[in-house]
Amino acid sequence: MSKPFLRTFWRTGVKGLCPNCGKTSMFSGYIEMRERCANCQLRYQTSAGAWLGALALGYTIGAAVAIVLTLVEIGYRPMRDAGLDPAWTIVIIALVGTAVGYRWAKSFWFSLLYLYDFMAIGDVPPGPPPVSERHVGRVREP
Ligand SMILES: [Zn+2]
Repeated sequence: MSKPFLRTFWRTGVKGLCPNCGKTSMFSGYIEMRERCANCQLRYQTSAGAWLGALALGYTIGAAVAIVLTLVEIGYRPMRDAGLDPAWTIVIIALVGTAVGYRWAKSFWFSLLYLYDFMAIGDVPPGPPPVSERHVGRVREP
């Protein structure tokens, strides 16, 4: 089964909607996420470290902002011409960019988790069951 990548990136990555049904927002605040979709019951956070990728993406956005600003300042000196300290200006704008971009980093990251089957509907975690539930070569206790 292949999932619609472009549609998922648009409605989840850009608009922050549920990747499965697209009817409700994944967010309860600016960056706070709901536990599951109220419409289709898709669980958003199914593994403990799932938010780490979103954090890494968020920092990448901040770093990209800082690099672009540095190149613009080297090329055209707009900050120096405006009487601003370029280093501090870049740091402050990059931090603000990281904070503002974190919601998109999060929704984009969770659209990837959905597309690669790291989300599940209901309470069953995605992927293979834990070893204790597999009954492989296990002697049943009376
Ligand atoms: Zn949904």
